Amino acid sequence: MTTGGRPEVTAHVALGANLGDAARTLRDALECLDHTPGIRLVKASSLYRTAPVDASGPDYLNAVAEVATTLTAPGLLAALQAIENAAGRQRPYRNAPRTLDLDLLLYGSARIDSPRLTVPHPRMWQRAFVLVPLKEIAPEMVRDHEPGQFAGQVVERLPD
Ligand code: ATP
Ligand code: CA
Ligand code: CA
Repeated sequence: MTTGGRPEVTAHVALGANLGDAARTLRDALECLDHTPGIRLVKASSLYRTAPVDASGPDYLNAVAEVATTLTAPGLLAALQAIENAAGRQRPYRNAPRTLDLDLLLYGSARIDSPRLTVPHPRMWQRAFVLVPLKEIAPEMVRDHEPGQFAGQVVERLPD
């Protein structure tokens, strides 16, 4: 279904959390996404446990969601940031542990390079914790990027 006349765009969102009840936070975030006007949750990957990359702190839980959205890319980013803020996200320093991180990976086939938004997410192709869950729900997106190449990045799928 479309709202407001804009066609739906398929977008992919990475979810990550490593503070508090991370599994609960990620499940709540998926529900929040689906309840946000202009965003419809199409698919969600399993949850994955991953060791922090370039960061310290507890292990992360990660997932990737496919959404259909009538929002613009900046509008979708703003919606993601509102959900992060509602989960109590703080940014004391770069790569700090976080209650919830929502990154916009892909917005249709758009290429965006603005001060506040770069799409595709510029670091996604180096991150097994993004590519493994993305491959689970959208294998065609990672055809040329074999997540198995990321030796040392341990990504463990959790049971549903
Ligand atoms: P990384 O981007 O390496 O995963 P991070 O998620 O920890 O790091 P944040 O502190 O969450 O970084 O975000 C910093 C800024 O990145 C945000 O304020 C946002 O404007 C910008 N940004 C640029 N491109 C994107 C994107 N594709 N998705 C989410 N945020 C983005
Ligand atoms: Ca991130
Ligand atoms: Ca982020």
